[in-house]
Amino acid sequence: PAITNHMPTKELQALDAAHHIHPFTDANELAESGARIITRAEGVTLTDSEGNQIMDAMSGLWCVNIGYGRQELVDAAARQMQELPFYNTFFMTSHVPVIALSAKLAELAPGTLNHVFYSSSGSEANDTNIRIVRHYWASKGKPEKTVMIARKNGYHGSTLGGGSLGGMAPMHSQGVPVIPGIVHIDQPHWWNEGGDMTPEEFGLERARQLEAKILELGEDNVAAFIGEPIQGAGGVVIPPSTYWPEIQRICDKYEILLIADEVICGFGRTGSWFGSQTMGIRPDIMTIAKGLTSGYIPMGGSLVSDEIANTLAAAGDFNHGYTYSGHPVAAAVALENLRILQEEKLVERVHDDVGPYLAKQWATLLDHPLVGEANSVGLMGTLALTPGKAKRAKFAGKEGAVGLRCRTRCFANGLVMRHVGDRMIIAPPLVITHAEIDTLVERARKSLDETY
Ligand code: PLP
Repeated sequence: PAITNHMPTKELQALDAAHHIHPFTDANELAESGARIITRAEGVTLTDSEGNQIMDAMSGLWCVNIGYGRQELVDAAARQMQELPFYNTFFMTSHVPVIALSAKLAELAPGTLNHVFYSSSGSEANDTNIRIVRHYWASKGKPEKTVMIARKNGYHGSTLGGGSLGGMAPMHSQGVPVIPGIVHIDQPHWWNEGGDMTPEEFGLERARQLEAKILELGEDNVAAFIGEPIQGAGGVVIPPSTYWPEIQRICDKYEILLIADEVICGFGRTGSWFGSQTMGIRPDIMTIAKGLTSGYIPMGGSLVSDEIANTLAAAGDFNHGYTYSGHPVAAAVALENLRILQEEKLVERVHDDVGPYLAKQWATLLDHPLVGEANSVGLMGTLALTPGKAKRAKFAGKEGAVGLRCRTRCFANGLVMRHVGDRMIIAPPLVITHAEIDTLVERARKSLDETY
């Protein structure tokens, strides 16, 4: 029989567990409980195969910025598929969608970030960044400048390059080698690691680890620093206000390229077009993906400065590229997505309206006995679950068990909220309304009550 939405959920779940290897999923749990099968979505709401409606407070995987069900993106893809479904951008060829998208991104991006190298994902874009950075310094006559400094618990993707730049210990322990020339410093996670320091003191201390690492390695050997303006998959780690200005100072002083991984923070998530603007930094390279197309079709890229692009150009051939670099259908969808973000003023809406409203409503959860921190920037929010607020205490037993329980209760209560250890995180679509934010916070509170 044909496998369709009309098949009983149990049968779909059994087929799924039998033949589909899921990313970042415990296969035993999957076989036992079955995946929740999502069949439709509209605005901020998912529908599953049992007809349940679930609010998606994670925008899928932090990507559906303009919300689900936008016909304009469907039409843009269909038009482009009819006209030119594929052509590559290798070997002296180009096409109109990629030309228009590159010009648009150059207009939107800050500073001199006027050039884009495309990929199909954030992981591939970060692999590209490794290639760009090394080729750049070699072309400038400094081939020994190769080391990239990243952060523990940062997430930069799942390819070998992206996974090595990332600082996820569970990935490294499963065979993502940290490829030679990549080192990690600590993350600016004051709640977990700040001890007796004020957040401001701690932000400076963590940023100065970068300086210490550069001096240890020798500044002539260090090529770049990479970080997410706000760490996403690491638990929505909002850095103290002192952190990024100090990182910028250090990168400037030692001539280290600053790479902002904007895969989550880009395209309005933090209330500016890019998280770098919210954090007041001037990156030389930005990694983009996810919100670039609102996840309707895969696309990523590296936005680089005039200086880098001119240096690469002067060196001739750049021997790097993906079949789908600048895919015309993805480019057409991205352009339409950017048009909607711009014309509907969704970024301004996050900054002036729904971001502040979420911050206010989210903070009401602080009176819950389990919640030690309730923080947000734009539409990225985080809750620290704790058995003792005053001391920022951790739960006894397996780390993450309470967070997992809370996530399960959320799911049962019609809310997708993710957990990272014992921290709950959200990143809803930018089109979320005040009434939906109220529902989100109500469902979160009910789930916390049932977790406690
Ligand atoms: N960089 C960051 C900051 C991310 O959050 C992610 C994905 O979550 C990636 C890179 C990897 O992107 P992709 O999953 O599209 O390869």
